[in-house]
Amino acid sequence: MLITHEHEELRRTTRNFVEQEINPFVDEWEAAGIFPAQELFRKMGNLGLLGITKPEAYGGINLDYSYEVVFAEEMGSALCGGVPMAVGVQTNMCTPALALHGSDELREEFLAPAISGDSIGSIAVSEPGAGSDVAGITTTATKDGGDYIINGSKMWITNATQADFFCVLANTDTSHKHNNKSLIIVPARTPGLSVGNRLKKMGMRSSDTAQVFFDNVRVPRRYRIGEEGMGFTYQMQQFQEERLFAAAIVVKTLENCINSTIDHTRKRIAYGEPLLNKQVIQFQLAEMQTETEALRALVYQATETYVKGGNVTKLASMAKLKAGRLCRSIPEQCLQFWGGMGYMEESLINRLCRDMRLVAIGAGADEVMLAIIAKMMGTLPRE
Ligand SMILES: Cc1cc2nc3c(=O)[nH]c(=O)nc-3n(C[C@H](O)[C@H](O)[C@H](O)COP(=O)(O)OP(=O)(O)OC[C@H]3O[C@@H](n4cnc5c(N)ncnc54)[C@H](O)[C@@H]3O)c2cc1C
Repeated sequence: MLITHEHEELRRTTRNFVEQEINPFVDEWEAAGIFPAQELFRKMGNLGLLGITKPEAYGGINLDYSYEVVFAEEMGSALCGGVPMAVGVQTNMCTPALALHGSDELREEFLAPAISGDSIGSIAVSEPGAGSDVAGITTTATKDGGDYIINGSKMWITNATQADFFCVLANTDTSHKHNNKSLIIVPARTPGLSVGNRLKKMGMRSSDTAQVFFDNVRVPRRYRIGEEGMGFTYQMQQFQEERLFAAAIVVKTLENCINSTIDHTRKRIAYGEPLLNKQVIQFQLAEMQTETEALRALVYQATETYVKGGNVTKLASMAKLKAGRLCRSIPEQCLQFWGGMGYMEESLINRLCRDMRLVAIGAGADEVMLAIIAKMMGTLPRE
């Protein structure tokens, strides 16, 4: 992936934003279990950060996906995982299908304010009974004249308590599970839609997560994104950006784990010298940095393929898998070198260890990525 002067400019803008507008407040937001999305997103919207790849007609900058990846990487320098994830939901999880397949009217109403930061979005796919098995969702959107009536519930929805709209995957008929779904935009204030209490989580605490309930929620059929019955396909496409973005965020967060561990072990004196003088620690940190560079290279390779219009499913799944794997090993190993301090909630490594654990589960668990990769390698048993 060719990094140009323009990429570096975007990197600098994002890094400054993270350093000035996010990191000083992370402790407060983590303790509160929520960050002020409205205020933060407006500031990001003013800088153009919420519409990097989106069409200019709706306030975006219309750059290629390599810029989004540089943005994601720098968001990863935040001192928590929750805020970058919430931003990623807005930019790369609940809006890609809307931008690509939504009608002009729908994009004017929902995409433009999401890009300017005047509106907060959520992606509502997972349900209490269906997470990995996306095709198994049971929420329905039944046609009634010119409307849909939505019934069901969605689980673990990021930004839910602050959202202005939800991009909802629902079954619009009873045909085959891959052809019976649609993506529908549902404004949060629609009668019958309610949001549960904020869920208490192991990590990602500055990001709000909640269940969303639909009880005869009526929305006009023009709120459907693209064609009826194409929702599963659109969501699978949308997942590619979600997974690339998630993997790109992780690179800098892992480096944060490594660098903060170098600092800690350099300052920590044991047996009369810095802990970092132990070769076993130096070697493990060297190995972690090597693995992180390999992840970066994989993310860049996938991005280049995506930008050139190639099928990125296998590479994006590999990048997401590698990110998930490293998020389970690197923060954990770093925490070990922090000793008792690592076990304290107040330490950065403790937070990153808790936050990063989600990467192997959310946006498609590691096993789901392996299943996709195996399918694309042609190693599944033939039917
Ligand atoms: C903090 C947080 C934020 C989230 N935000 C959102 C959001 O904004 N919107 C949204 O729609 N969802 C969101 N999710 C949901 C998330 O995407 C799901 O949790 C995830 O897809 C896994 O689904 P599940 O929890 O139902 O796990 P299950 O499907 O029950 O799977 C459990 C485990 O089984 C294993 N497994 C699954 N499939 C296979 C397989 N094919 N082969 C072998 N093993 C397998 C994996 O180890 C997996 O972790 C969020 C979740 C969390 C925790």
